[in-house]
Amino acid sequence: MTTTRPDLVLTSARILDPATNTDAIMDVAVTSGKISEVGEHLDTSTAGDIIDLSGRWLIPGMIDTHVHVGGELDGVTDPGTGMRAVVEAGATTVVDLGGSMERIVNGIRKHGAGANVAGLGMLKPGVTLPDDDPSPSIVRSTLDKALKSGQLGLKMWGGYYPFSMDVTADIIAACNERLAYVAFHVGTKSSGSRLDGMRELPALLGQHGRAHIAHINAYCRGSILSPAEEIAEALEILESLRGRVVSEVHLARPNFTRGECDEDGNVRMDVARNCLRLRNYPTTREGMRKAITDGYGSAVRQTPSGLSLVTGAEGVKIFDDGDSVIGMSFPVNRADTAFQLTTAKRKDDSFIVDAIASDAGVLPRNVNIEQAMNIVKFGGLTPLEMAQKLSFNPARMIGLTRKGRIAPGMDADLTVISPEQGRAVMSFVAGEMVMMDGRAVGHSGKLLITNAGETAAARYDLPYETIDISNSLLYAV
Ligand SMILES: [Zn+2]
Repeated sequence: MTTTRPDLVLTSARILDPATNTDAIMDVAVTSGKISEVGEHLDTSTAGDIIDLSGRWLIPGMIDTHVHVGGELDGVTDPGTGMRAVVEAGATTVVDLGGSMERIVNGIRKHGAGANVAGLGMLKPGVTLPDDDPSPSIVRSTLDKALKSGQLGLKMWGGYYPFSMDVTADIIAACNERLAYVAFHVGTKSSGSRLDGMRELPALLGQHGRAHIAHINAYCRGSILSPAEEIAEALEILESLRGRVVSEVHLARPNFTRGECDEDGNVRMDVARNCLRLRNYPTTREGMRKAITDGYGSAVRQTPSGLSLVTGAEGVKIFDDGDSVIGMSFPVNRADTAFQLTTAKRKDDSFIVDAIASDAGVLPRNVNIEQAMNIVKFGGLTPLEMAQKLSFNPARMIGLTRKGRIAPGMDADLTVISPEQGRAVMSFVAGEMVMMDGRAVGHSGKLLITNAGETAAARYDLPYETIDISNSLLYAV
């Protein structure tokens, strides 16, 4: 069919294309950054390059709708650290859930590894907002500023910087009015980063509100009911908002939070307090030190290649040296919760939680593919369902109409998985190899922006693509 010479032909891969339910050994031809042909025994005689993928699985490029590469929460000095880490884990497109555009741009310039990167504006009182009670006009001007900087919308960090119910509802409404993206780590001043935060969603969204609800598993750690009861109720809440929310689950055991204590020695962040309470530690500086001493809490240490977790006396020293203002981690994410939320389906066979996302990036838990492969081995997902949760659904969540599929005309963003190793071993963005054997080999990166960000993107002098959030599942029906 194709008469043009393909730049690249990937041969004999097990193609997993959930959109067409295709699970078959075939070849994929790539021409000018797009998939030009998919079929058996394609003509390779004129191909610029041929890669034999016998024994490998090929999924549409992994799209991680929840990463942190934009500088918030991590404190890592090299802004490219997260850019490399996500690519090394097999991602081809990522959404930074609340950081700075400047940091993303610097990261791509310095150590970009070839991925497509979108960002959401962070709502941090004293930094991007004057205080924690912004008026509707301040909310809207903050959203405009984010969109103009090239971000797709806003992220609310209810577990860290909660707003009142009214302000939270207004932020969602403001983003909805503009058809901007809005992601929510649940929790308000009247709830927490727990099931009680989820319970507020129907009231916060009202009749028409729409939002991306981040890491559902983080609200089912057993803080209020038993984990099993919390999972059931969280799924019920999502189901009651079907068509108006999109959501994801991450599959890593450790979480990430902040150690900050106030002048009275009390832990500031709701997420960190919940972690301490789960094991009956006092929510104080001393409680935190004890948790680190016991090996339950870890201090996050920066190393040249990323972040590592340190417990015991050494961890306490990092905590004290940083005067508590450090990244912290607790092993609070339950495997049973992650499994059940990932695999939960409706009667019509569709998934209640749309995607697997990492909440990683710079944080050392970029395990989407590894853990999804474990679920496949265990029989919880078919290989096609895995591809759906790692790429097809995430593409629809953001409104990327040319990604998430392996079909002619689609962007040649592809991730190769080794079923023996259970991880990504190669990936391509627009037909260019960006990762090989777990090493990022790509350069630079492309910003995904809305049309409001075009002037800024031109100034950044990086490749960019304008996307239309009205194509997102958030606004689909
Ligand atoms: Zn996050």
